[in-house]
Amino acid sequence: MAEYCARCKRRMVVAYHVPDDVKRLVLLNRWESGVCAGCFDELAEKGGIAYSFAGVAATSWSDRPAPRNPFKRKR
Ligand SMILES: [Zn+2]
Repeated sequence: MAEYCARCKRRMVVAYHVPDDVKRLVLLNRWESGVCAGCFDELAEKGGIAYSFAGVAATSWSDRPAPRNPFKRKR
């Protein structure tokens, strides 16, 4: 999952799970790289797609492990 939302470009601090078929319907081919929970909800509403989050987990900046060597990051 991308670290930043493909749509609003804000940090995706909330990881969410929705059924794959719902995800396909909402994201289509446009936002394949992933959008934040807020954008997902907006897109679903616009598309008239009813759904529920199957699981949500929020991670703050300080919850993330610090990279051991900031100069050798992957990607
Ligand atoms: Zn977003």
